[in-house]
Amino acid sequence: MVLLPRVAFAQPNTTEKLQLVTLQINWNHQFQFAGFYAAIQQGYYRQAGLDVTVKGWKSGINVLDEVVSGRAEFAVGYGTLMSDYAKGAPISLVMASFQFSPMVLLSHEPINDLSELSGKTVMHYGNLQIHGLLNKAKGLVEKPIKTLDSSGDLNDFIDKKVDLYAAYYTNEPYRLEQLGIPYYTLDPKTYGVQSYGDFVITSKKLAQLEPDMVQKFKEASIRGWKYAIHHQQEVVDFIIEQYPVVKSREALLAEAKVTTRYVQSGEVPIGMVESSKLLATAAGAKEVGLISQEEYDRLDMQDFMFHENRSLFTQKELQYLANNNVIRLANDINWEPFEFIDAKGRYRGIAAEYFQLFEKKLGIRFEVVKDKTWPEVVEMAKQGKLDVYSCAVATEERQEYMEFTEPYLSFPMVLAADGDVGFIERYDQLSGQTIAVVDGYWSHEYLKRQYPQIKLLVVKSVKEGLDAVIDGRASAYSGNLAAINFAIRKYGAEGVRIVGQLEERFELALGVQKDNPVLFGIMQKALNSVTEKERQAIFDHWIRLQVVNKMDQRQLMEILIPAGIIILGLLVLLSIYSYQKRRQKGYIRQIHELSYATEVDINTQTIVWASDSFAKLSGYSKQELQGMSYFKLVCDSLSEDVISYIKSLLQQGKTWHGEVEGRKKSGHSYWVDLTLTPKKDLFGNVKRVIATRVDISDRKKVEKLSITDVLTGLYNRRYFNEFIEIELKRTQREKLPFSLAMIDIDYFKGVNDYYGHPHGDVILQQVSAQIKQAFSRSHDHVFRVGGEEFMVIAYFESRQQCFEHLQAMSEQVEALQLENLASPYGVVTISTGAIFLESGHSLDSEEILQAVDKLLYQAKSSGRNQVVITQPGEHEV
Ligand code: GH3
Ligand code: MG
Ligand code: MG
Repeated sequence: MVLLPRVAFAQPNTTEKLQLVTLQINWNHQFQFAGFYAAIQQGYYRQAGLDVTVKGWKSGINVLDEVVSGRAEFAVGYGTLMSDYAKGAPISLVMASFQFSPMVLLSHEPINDLSELSGKTVMHYGNLQIHGLLNKAKGLVEKPIKTLDSSGDLNDFIDKKVDLYAAYYTNEPYRLEQLGIPYYTLDPKTYGVQSYGDFVITSKKLAQLEPDMVQKFKEASIRGWKYAIHHQQEVVDFIIEQYPVVKSREALLAEAKVTTRYVQSGEVPIGMVESSKLLATAAGAKEVGLISQEEYDRLDMQDFMFHENRSLFTQKELQYLANNNVIRLANDINWEPFEFIDAKGRYRGIAAEYFQLFEKKLGIRFEVVKDKTWPEVVEMAKQGKLDVYSCAVATEERQEYMEFTEPYLSFPMVLAADGDVGFIERYDQLSGQTIAVVDGYWSHEYLKRQYPQIKLLVVKSVKEGLDAVIDGRASAYSGNLAAINFAIRKYGAEGVRIVGQLEERFELALGVQKDNPVLFGIMQKALNSVTEKERQAIFDHWIRLQVVNKMDQRQLMEILIPAGIIILGLLVLLSIYSYQKRRQKGYIRQIHELSYATEVDINTQTIVWASDSFAKLSGYSKQELQGMSYFKLVCDSLSEDVISYIKSLLQQGKTWHGEVEGRKKSGHSYWVDLTLTPKKDLFGNVKRVIATRVDISDRKKVEKLSITDVLTGLYNRRYFNEFIEIELKRTQREKLPFSLAMIDIDYFKGVNDYYGHPHGDVILQQVSAQIKQAFSRSHDHVFRVGGEEFMVIAYFESRQQCFEHLQAMSEQVEALQLENLASPYGVVTISTGAIFLESGHSLDSEEILQAVDKLLYQAKSSGRNQVVITQPGEHEV
C-alpha cells in the first residue's frame, strides 16, 4: 500500500476551500520531483488555493492515461510525451522540470565512438534521446545493435546481462558507485541529441477550462523548484519524512547535487520551454521514426504548450474588457495590403487579420471605419472619437494624443518613379522636384518637415500617387514598399519602378488614446501574445505568397524591379531566419556553457574559443586559453599514438569520446568525459573541432578510492578481480602474451611478533613501494590482494624477460635490508610465483590463479626468497 501523506499546515487566515489536485510522477519518490514536494512543504500550493498530492509511480501506471482519464490533474513524464501529443493525445505541456534530459546510457566499457556500439545489447525505455543516439549509431556500426525493453532493474546491468543500460544520470551512477561497480556513461547530449527532461503535462481539457488553476500550479511548482535547489538537505529530509522512499538519505543528497544542474541551466528560467527547442526535438523524433512526417508537419508547438491568456491581464484590464465590448478603430479604408474595405464592405488586409486574432484573444469586438478618408480618420482620432490606430507610424504629431505599442510591421520607405529616372540615394537629390504623397501618411508628414525644398503633390491614395507619376504631375511617389508593390501589381501601373530605398522605414504599430492606459496595456499584451506562427501565416497570406505567385508573369517583370521582390522576400525571410538563428545560437551557447566547451583549430591544435564554464574549470582566463596549445591542458594520460589516432578520426569527420585527465592552471588535475566533434566547413573539410566535456572528477575520485588499498596505495583485491578479466580479454583480442605474478612476503608473522604490528605495517609499505617501483610502466598493475600478498599484471614479450624482471625485483627487496630476525636471511625477502602465457592460450582467470598459487607454493617450499615461473608449454593448452 502506498502512503499518500498530506501535510497539514496551520494557516489561520485561509478558510476558503482548497482545490484537490493530484500529480502523478513517473518514478519512485526522490529528488527528481523535489520542486513539487518543496511547493507542498513551503505552502506555495496552498497559497494558490491548491491541495496537491504527489502520487508515486508503480509498474503498470501510464502517466499519459492518468492525465487523459482525469485520475490525475498533472503528471511528470519523459520527452516522448511530445510524440504522444503529435499522435493526437489531448494533452498540454505545462513546463519542463529539466532543461536537458538526464537520460544516458551506462556501459561496462568506455565507448569512444558510436561505431563501438556494434553488436552491443542496449536496454532502454524507448526514450527519445536514446532512440536518437542509436539512430546516429546505426550508420556507423558493422553489426546491428540489439535493443531490449527496460526491466527497470539495474541488476540487469550489474550482472552484465546487457552491455548498455539506459538510466538517469542523477540516479543510477550513484548506486553503482556505492556498490563499487565501475561504469562508463554515453551521453546523447554530447552527440548532439537534445531534449527536455521531465515534462509536466495536464489534459487539454483542464488547460482550457481551468487555465487559472493550471497557471497557479505551474508558478507554485517553479517556486518550489527554486526553493528545493537552494535547500537541498531540508527538502531531502522532508521527502524521507513524508513519502515511502527507496533511496538512502546520502543517495538523495547526491541526486540533489546532480539534479540542480538540469533544473537551473545557465540563464534559462526554471521550468521554461521554448518552441524552437521543442521543434528541434520533434525533428529528431521524426528522424528516428517515432512520429511520421505527416504528424510532424501537423505539429503546432504553440498549441502543445500551455498558455494562460487571461491571467496575462491585470484585474483592472479584465474589468475593462468586461465593461467595454466594442472598441472603435482608426483604420485606413484604402491602404492595401495593410488594411482596406473590400467591395463587400469587409475590413481586410494584414492589420485586419491581426484584429481578428485580437477579437478571439480578448473576447471583444472592434468597430471599423468604412467610409472616411484617412485625413478624416486622423482628425477623428485626434478628437478622441476613435480609440485605437490599427496600423500607423508613431509620428511626433500622432504621439501627442496617442500612445504607441512596439511596431508589429516594418517596411522601408521607397521612391517609385517612371522608367527614365536614375537611382536616387538621398532625398536631397530631389530638391525642387515634385513628389507625390498620400494626404496624412507618414511620408507626407516626414517630407514636409525634413525636406521643405521638395514640392509635395498631396493625393488621396497610393493608386492616385502612381497615376500622378505616370502622367507626369510628379517625378516620383514616396511611400511604403509593400503598398507600392501591391498597387503596381493590382493596377498595372506600367513603366513605374522603384528607384530608391531610403533609410527611413514605416514602423507600423498600434496606437491607443493617451488617456486610456488600461486599454494600452491590453493592446500591447494582445500584440505580444501573437505567436510567430500566426504572424507568419498573416504575412504569407498578404505578401510572400502573392509575390511568389506572380513571379513568372511577364507583366510583373516589366513593371516591378526584381529588387523590390527580393527586398520583400528577404525582409520576411531575414526576420524569421535571424529570429531562429538567434534562438538557435543562444541555445547552442547554453549547451556549450553546460558542457565546458572549447573550439580547437585542428591544424595548430590551439584553442580558438572557450566557454566561461570551461575557463572556470581549467583555472585559466578566456584570454589565456585563446591560442593555447590544446594538449597543454591534458595530462600525459594521452600518448602520442592515441593523439594521432584521435586526429585521424576527426579528420575523417568522426567524433571521439573518452575519459581524459586534464590539468588546471594550478597544477591540480581533473577528469572529464571528453567528446571531440569535428566541425565541417562549407566544403566538408574539417578545420575546427568542438570539445565538450562532462566533469567526472568526483566520480573518478570515488572510483579511485573504491579500487585502492588504504595502507599501501596499491590497487585492491576487488579491482584485481575485475581487472584480470578485462586484461585477459584485451590480450586475447589483441593477440598478446599475458603475465601474472603472485608475491608473498616471507616469514612475515615473525615481523609482527618481533617488532610489533605497527612496524609490520611500515615494512608492508616499504615492500609495496619497492614492488610498485619495479612495475611502474604504463601497462603494469600492482595489487595488494591479501595481508602481505600481492599480484602483478604486466606486459612482457618473453618468459625470460618476465623472469629476469621479477628476479631483479626480488633482489631489490632483499637489498632494502629491512631487518627480520625471524627469517634465516636476517632481512625481509619475498617469494614469487609467476605465469607467462603466450598469445593464443585458452586459460580462464580461475585456472591461471590456481596455477600461480601452486607456483608460489613451490617457491616457498624450495627455500623462499626466489622466483618460480612456468615452464614453456606448461599450462598452455
Ligand atoms: P610465509 O613465508 O610462509 O609466507 O610465512 P608468513 O609468516 O609470511 O606466513 P603467512 O603469509 O601465512 O602470514 C601472513 C601474516 O601477515 C599474518 C598476519 O599477521 C600478517 N599480516 C597480514 N596483514 C597485515 C597487515 O596489514 N599489517 C601487518 N602488520 N601484518 C599483517
Ligand atoms: Mg601470506
Ligand atoms: Mg607470508
